[in-house]
Amino acid sequence: MNQAVHLTGLTEGELVAFVEEMGAPSYRGRQIFAALQARRLRSFDEMTDLPKIFREKLNERATTSTLTVEERYISTDGTRRYLMKTRDNLPVETVFIPEERRDTICFSSQSGCPLQCDFCLTAKLGLLRTLEAGEIVEQIIVALNDAYGVSRKTPRGVNLVAMGAGEPFLAFEPLMKALKIMADPKGLHIVPARVTVSTAGVVPKIRELAKIPDRPHLAISLAAPTDELRDQLMPINKRWPLDELLSACVEFEKSLKPGERFTFEYVMLDGVNDSESHARQLANLLNRHGLRAKVNLIPHNPAEPLPYSPSPPERVEKFKAILESKGVRALVRRPRGRDIYAACGQLAARRTPNINQQALHKIAS
Ligand code: SF4
Repeated sequence: MNQAVHLTGLTEGELVAFVEEMGAPSYRGRQIFAALQARRLRSFDEMTDLPKIFREKLNERATTSTLTVEERYISTDGTRRYLMKTRDNLPVETVFIPEERRDTICFSSQSGCPLQCDFCLTAKLGLLRTLEAGEIVEQIIVALNDAYGVSRKTPRGVNLVAMGAGEPFLAFEPLMKALKIMADPKGLHIVPARVTVSTAGVVPKIRELAKIPDRPHLAISLAAPTDELRDQLMPINKRWPLDELLSACVEFEKSLKPGERFTFEYVMLDGVNDSESHARQLANLLNRHGLRAKVNLIPHNPAEPLPYSPSPPERVEKFKAILESKGVRALVRRPRGRDIYAACGQLAARRTPNINQQALHKIAS
C-alpha cells in the first residue's frame, strides 16, 4: 500500500498540483497550505472551511501530521524538550528555548546521527534515518502550537537553529525544502535570515551554501584547534581536516552579506581542549586564515556515559580573554535545559530527566 502523502512537506505550488490531480480546483490547494502553515492545523477535521466530502477524500490519500508527541519535558529554566516519533517509529527531538527578546526552536535534521563526535550523546544512537522536509516543518509547528497556541500568528522574531540531532548538511535537500516552505509569507513566514544551521564541517556543502543567495546563517562546530585533537573529538576531521574546512570558511566569509552572521562553536571540555595554549592555537589558526567570524564558547553539557565534564567558568573566561587579546571575538554561551537532556550534545531520545527530578513535567500527548 502506498504511504499517505505528507502535505506539510509540500510547497504551496505542490499542494495546488496535488489537489488538481485529485480533480479539485487549485484554490483548495492554497486553502490547505494556509490551514497547515499559517493556521498550523494538525488534522483535516479541523479544516472546517473545506467540504466534508473533500476532507474524506483527502484523508484517504494524504496526511497532515506524521509526528506523534510522546513526551514533553520542561526544564527549570523554561526550556521544553519534545520527544516525538515518526510514522516508522523513530525518535525525533525538538527543543523550545524561551528567551527575553526572542524565542528559539532547535530542531533535528536526522533521527540519530552518523557522525561520531565523541562529546555528543546523539552519536551513540548512530544514524536511524534522515528526516523529510515535512518532518522538519512539523517539529516547528508542534513547538509553536505548544508555546503560543494553534491558529495564532507566528510571533515575529522566533529564531530557528538546526542544532538538534543529526548533521544538517547530510540532510541538505530536505532541509533546504523545509526552509523554503517555512519562509512563505502565506505560511509560517520564518525567513532564512532567522535560521542558523550548524555543521560539524561537511566541506562541499559549506561551499554550496555560499552560492545560495537566500540562505540561513552558518555555524561551524570546531571543538579543537589542531587536527590531532579534532581527529579524536570529531572523526569527520579525518575526511575534511582543519585546513580544508577553514579554506571553505574563507570562501563562505567572502560571500557574507551585510548583517549576516557566521560563527564557530567551540565546546569546552575540562582538561581536553580548554588550556591557554589551546586558546592561543585557536586564535592563531583563525588569524592565519584571516577569518573574522565570532567564536561561541559552549561549556560541555554533561551526560552519562560521556567521559567529559564542562570546563570550570574561570577557565572559560581565561580562554575567552586570550582569544580577545588576539583580536578574535568570543562569547560564552549559557547552557539551557541541561536538567532535561535538552542542551547541546545531549539529545539521545532520553526518557528520564537529567539532574533535577522535580523539574519534570510530563504530559501524555
Ligand atoms: S555533535 Fe552534531 S554532528 Fe556531532 S554526533 Fe552530535 S548531532 Fe552528530
